[in-house]
Amino acid sequence: MKITIDSVYCKGCLLCVGVCKKGVLALGAERSKGGYLMPYAKEPDNCIACKLCEITCPDVCIEVTKD
Ligand code: SF4
Ligand code: SF4
Repeated sequence: MKITIDSVYCKGCLLCVGVCKKGVLALGAERSKGGYLMPYAKEPDNCIACKLCEITCPDVCIEVTKD
């Protein structure tokens, strides 16, 4: 699975990390344009494309697509 996070609009709230029950997402070291530490796909192979993270993100900046 390919998980894309918008590095312009992500505000590092980490709601997506908390909602993913598969442990796919984790806090990363990269900062968004606004200076916030962003999540990243630590375990992309565990993703089941439930899209809960997409639905949960208040800023619509995470996208899950099949490879
Ligand atoms: S689509 Fe579902 S399994 Fe995949 S990263 Fe988002 S919440 Fe986790
Ligand atoms: S929920 Fe959205 S804004 Fe918050 S950390 Fe995740 S991708 Fe960034």
